[in-house]
Amino acid sequence: MKKSVLLIGSGLGSLATALRLTKHGYDVKIIEKFSTPGGRLNIIEKDGFSFDMGPSFFSMSYEFKELFDYIGIENPLQLNELNPLYSVYFEGKEKPFMMHKDLKKLEKEFENIEPHLEQKVRKYLDAAGKLFHDTENIVVKQNFNSKLHYLQQLTRVPFKHGPKMFRSMWSELEKNFDSEEVKVIFSLVSFFLGSTPFQTPAVYTLLNYTELVHDGYWNVQGGMYKIVTEIKKILEAKGVQFVFNTEIVEIEEKDGKAVAAISKSGERYEADIIVCNADAASFRGQVLKRKEYTEQKLDELDWTLSPFTIYLGVKGKLENLHHHNYFLGNNFKEYADKIFKTSVSPNKPYYYVNVSSRSNPGCAPEGHENLFILCPVPDLRYKPDWSDSQDLAATIIKDLSERVGYDISSNIVTQTILSPVEWQNNFNLYRGSGLGLAHGLNQIGGFRPANKDEKLSNLYYVGASTIPGTGLPIVVIGSRLVTERILQDHGTIH
Ligand SMILES: Cc1cc2nc3c(=O)[nH]c(=O)nc-3n(C[C@H](O)[C@H](O)[C@H](O)COP(=O)(O)OP(=O)(O)OC[C@H]3O[C@@H](n4cnc5c(N)ncnc54)[C@H](O)[C@@H]3O)c2cc1C
Repeated sequence: MKKSVLLIGSGLGSLATALRLTKHGYDVKIIEKFSTPGGRLNIIEKDGFSFDMGPSFFSMSYEFKELFDYIGIENPLQLNELNPLYSVYFEGKEKPFMMHKDLKKLEKEFENIEPHLEQKVRKYLDAAGKLFHDTENIVVKQNFNSKLHYLQQLTRVPFKHGPKMFRSMWSELEKNFDSEEVKVIFSLVSFFLGSTPFQTPAVYTLLNYTELVHDGYWNVQGGMYKIVTEIKKILEAKGVQFVFNTEIVEIEEKDGKAVAAISKSGERYEADIIVCNADAASFRGQVLKRKEYTEQKLDELDWTLSPFTIYLGVKGKLENLHHHNYFLGNNFKEYADKIFKTSVSPNKPYYYVNVSSRSNPGCAPEGHENLFILCPVPDLRYKPDWSDSQDLAATIIKDLSERVGYDISSNIVTQTILSPVEWQNNFNLYRGSGLGLAHGLNQIGGFRPANKDEKLSNLYYVGASTIPGTGLPIVVIGSRLVTERILQDHGTIH
């Protein structure tokens, strides 16, 4: 008889796990708190515009290919490589810096401020690339049975990378580059981990290698939400059932096993195996009531920054904006050091703007653009009150208008704002943290909440806060790791 699997949550980690498990003959059901599938990888459709709610691009595109190869289906997604990768605007400088993968072009971009850039970048990326390839299979694409198992694995990483564990990404950049602008731009990858370069260990310079050399950045033709709609179509054809607007608040246990998940309104969902795609740390605390994850202990963990997001449908074309843009001030260190641990909104915010109507004209009516603005802000531990959301949005829109020379405010057709409160409430993101648990060395690998439960033998986890970590390709890797565990414990059905 087929074994049944209940997935709690329908984020990418869950959808990818469901795909893999159906291939092995499991009978899968997905229960989701929100009204639509995808979790953070979601969509807002309003007044003729559509917006990617969260992710707008990704690295390691080959992980999506691996996923569809795994189930023997041709990849239904048409991926577009970002070229240039993005543009960066510094306050007071009229022209943005374009981030090119072609290092000769990149050198030209910085010719007046960082001499011999190509040579310096090659040396820097060479070291980052070695680190990536020396750790990818040992640290990222591995299940760990214990902390000891993880530490044993780490001993296989060549010793020469050791110092990068102990210094920050910023110090590594200071060793390699002279100009502030180059250091700041190369350090932006730390924000993809939801942190700052001053807190992020230098090992993550490997992300510069993934963006500039290895596989670059990609988005999806038709919008990022296509990832969800295409996977959902395949799952439904395979008989997977989806239940929306249903939050699981309790797990019924018997003889060391999870026997059923109970929803807020009291429905009981039985299954042979349960996979939790809700946050792997806060679910253990809030739903399983584990003493290792009380509210106080959860608050003591390192969480990634919260997103403050604005979705604007704008009349007219903002010719000065590129597809992916960063708008920065000129007090980077001071900003990064202070802003994320205060209870006040920044008065000169740093932010990212994506205009997906540039490559997907269907996302906005003709003669209009859809702007997605993301400003990293303190999580709800530091700033619980977001009644100033409208003011912060207005500050950002005013700043953007000035910097691109277009009166955005008078041309807004539609506007949606999501503060950390909405991000928390919509998707159960702990304290509104955007990317889940942070990726310091004490919270990765064997030190991250495991993808197999400590107490219940048929309960597993997939998603941003379990191994290997956050980001779209990384949770796809996580779906492979959790599937391996399930197959090891329960076998293939056919
Ligand atoms: C603003 C923003 C921008 C981002 N940009 C990028 C990017 O450009 N590139 C990139 O690679 N990554 C990006 N990320 C990160 C990426 O979105 C995540 O790492 C990834 O989507 C996490 O997937 P997940 O599997 O953990 O599921 P999640 O997205 O966390 O989904 C989990 C689902 O579980 C549901 N759920 C939670 N608790 C329960 C419960 N008790 N009962 C039922 N359902 C429950 C939630 O409602 C949610 O739908 C971004 C994230 C944010 C917030």
